[in-house]
Amino acid sequence: MPRRPIDNRLDFLSPVSLVPGLGPKRIAALRQSGIETIRDLLYHFPRRYIDRSNVVPIGGIGSCLGATCCVIGTVTRTRVERGRTARFRAQITDDTGSFEALWFRGIPYFRKAIRTGQRVLLTGTVSRYGGYQMAHPLVESVGPNATGPAIAFLPRYPLTEAMREVNFQQRSLQKSIAWVVNNLKHYPEVLPKKIERKKGFPPLSECLRQIHMPDNPDGLDRYLSRLRYEELYQLALTLRWSRRKFALPGRVMRPGAMARTLESHLPFVLTGEQNKALRVLHRDAAAKTRMHRLLEGDVGSGKTVVAFFACLPALNEGMQVAWMAPTEVLAQQTYDRVCAWLKPFDVDAALLKGGISSADKGKILKGLSSGNLRFVVGTHALLQPSVRFYRLGMIVIDEQHRFGAGQRLQLAEKDPASDFLVMSATPIPQTLARTLYGDLEVIAIRSLPEGRQPVSTHIVPEHRRGDMETYLAREITGGGRQAFYLAPRIEGGDANDQVKDVHAVFDGLGQGPLAAIPRDLIHGRMAGEEKVNTMARFARGETRVLVATTLVEVGIDVPNATMMVIENAERFGLSQLHQLRGRVARGAKQGYCFLLTAETIDDLARERLEKLCATHDGFAIADLDLRLRGPGDVVGFRQSGRQDLKVADIVRDADLFREIQEELDRMLVR
Ligand code: ADP
Ligand code: MG
Repeated sequence: MPRRPIDNRLDFLSPVSLVPGLGPKRIAALRQSGIETIRDLLYHFPRRYIDRSNVVPIGGIGSCLGATCCVIGTVTRTRVERGRTARFRAQITDDTGSFEALWFRGIPYFRKAIRTGQRVLLTGTVSRYGGYQMAHPLVESVGPNATGPAIAFLPRYPLTEAMREVNFQQRSLQKSIAWVVNNLKHYPEVLPKKIERKKGFPPLSECLRQIHMPDNPDGLDRYLSRLRYEELYQLALTLRWSRRKFALPGRVMRPGAMARTLESHLPFVLTGEQNKALRVLHRDAAAKTRMHRLLEGDVGSGKTVVAFFACLPALNEGMQVAWMAPTEVLAQQTYDRVCAWLKPFDVDAALLKGGISSADKGKILKGLSSGNLRFVVGTHALLQPSVRFYRLGMIVIDEQHRFGAGQRLQLAEKDPASDFLVMSATPIPQTLARTLYGDLEVIAIRSLPEGRQPVSTHIVPEHRRGDMETYLAREITGGGRQAFYLAPRIEGGDANDQVKDVHAVFDGLGQGPLAAIPRDLIHGRMAGEEKVNTMARFARGETRVLVATTLVEVGIDVPNATMMVIENAERFGLSQLHQLRGRVARGAKQGYCFLLTAETIDDLARERLEKLCATHDGFAIADLDLRLRGPGDVVGFRQSGRQDLKVADIVRDADLFREIQEELDRMLVR
């Protein structure tokens, strides 16, 4: 029973808390996974389906030996077998025969869940061991008249770390999503009826139903093509909107003496490339039009300081700066740096993030709306409507691909005349940037600061892990260095997934040559404060090894951390690996990156990793990625939780996108 009456206004924007059976913990886990609304939930697509279309009588189960099938029967006996390998056995019987299902794991659960006399539907692989068996079948109880599963193709969803943590499993996620599919009546009309008819698209509700409960997974193209079209249509509209916004007049702002003052306080000299980018940005600021720039540059190329220089014109003219970063850790680090750079000037900065006390938050909000507070660094907390500025002169968005187009514009809207600079370490060709971000102009920093050595990168097959760790231990104790260990954050959820998770890696280190070295763990589901503290301990050198999810991909700067181990390296895109290893190329010290791989990886995967070892130019690597893996990974859409495009791919679907833009032109002209 729903806890609240189902309002007949349940729609895309309703919160997930309206779904029956979701408690606060699960809602929080969903939120952490980027799922807040009914729409988010509906667009959490299955990654595969379990085929339950083959229902056989138990007497005929032998015909499925070695294959997957379904049976329906009554539980006629259960028993728990103790001993070295404990198992739970259940005998299942129908009119045609009986066989045995058994489970090795989760015995207490199955003991409770599977009772004699119960009618069940089992899905599993048939094996023969004396009689016929199914080991670890999926089990579901069914009514007395059921002849097959309610859904023939059972969707399997990606589970995030946050979901696992609260034991939010496939079954309940599937139930929640199915509830939405069955109860949602109001779907937004994104596409004009005319286009819908012309294209012969099925209704949106039908498309989403088919994705989650397909009649046949092989026939999904027809439904996906509508979703693809819709996404691109929406993106095209957003771009038009954004173009209008940035065609507005801006302010004429100059850095005055501040630029020279800042330069004389920096511990380094700007590179030629940094200076070039800087001149362009200062020219933008002095122009009568609004600045709308993308600053690109390899990890470690020094974008942050350039972006800070770009804030000086606004500060010099007495205006405010807002700087948005995608994670709390990065926001904190940026804030620390900004505070240091602001020292020579009479300007205060504040850090706005989730979880600060309401008194502190109130103070910041008041400072911003009165204009007394001139510089604010924050996470997407900056987007809240309560954040109002007195005179916002400059907006900086770091790691822009982590935010959706809508979010970028939301910040841009805080002041219709403010300049706007976004940064990215993932190179995007100018044409693509224009397609994606409207009239955004690109400026790139194409070289690293002097004396930066390329990260020495090595492929390490699993059997050499011990050697590698002996080397790390020596560098850490003898050389005073520090190391990152990165594991892909698990999303799979299948028992046979070979992906390492941070906890396993962390525990594993307790055995090998690194056992005695102080280590720590950081990942996305930790509280913000905890993350910041963990990071700070590592930055101070109190911990020497930091096991992390790819969270650290985003802009963390610890000069003494010169070594990085990447678990399951074959699972990452080259651009992402390149960004990750950039974390250990910060100081003048030689950085090392070890790409741990499974014992056997396929040739293409090996070739990719070998290319990465040999190449150190981020632009060349992006190009390689583009050819080897496809564009989604390059532009970064697939890497981020919040994304504009889930089904469409801006490069692969470039022709369709153009068609849609032309369609819009025609409609708007008339
Ligand atoms: P990015 O954001 O492009 O990945 P950062 O701005 O974080 O790179 O810069 C990486 C590191 O290089 C920082 O520690 C920064 O202080 C330093 N740095 C930036 N510019 C220079 C320079 N011209 N010479 C030496 N070090 C620099
Ligand atoms: Mg950066």
